[in-house]
Amino acid sequence: MTELSLLGSECATCGTVGFPAGTHCARCATATATPRQLSTRGTVWTYTVQRFAPKSPPYVPPPNGFEPFAMGYVELPEGIRIAGILESDTFDDLTGSPAVLVATEPVPRFVVQPDGIDTGSTHSGAEANA
Ligand SMILES: [Zn+2]
Repeated sequence: MTELSLLGSECATCGTVGFPAGTHCARCATATATPRQLSTRGTVWTYTVQRFAPKSPPYVPPPNGFEPFAMGYVELPEGIRIAGILESDTFDDLTGSPAVLVATEPVPRFVVQPDGIDTGSTHSGAEANA
């Protein structure tokens, strides 16, 4: 499986984690933020379902035409919420479900599994590539 990661930043002054990476802290506004890899697993915080094709451009419809998709925020263990596309077999009751990052371009994309993710590890994220 391809190594995926989200690059954020962490403030050396107050510890606030931001995404995308920046040199200034979003909370205390000092220029002490340094790059930091973010977890690739989190929990769906909230979401909505896009049931009609967005305005194009900028939206680029897929070759087979538009299909409804879920989009929302995934909360990472770092305490930050990342906006992205949510892939799931269902659009029901995704809030609180585990989500795994599967792509970062052009926008973050997560696979959501409301019944849990059966990949062996039950821990979310932080033990990634040191
Ligand atoms: Zn700060």
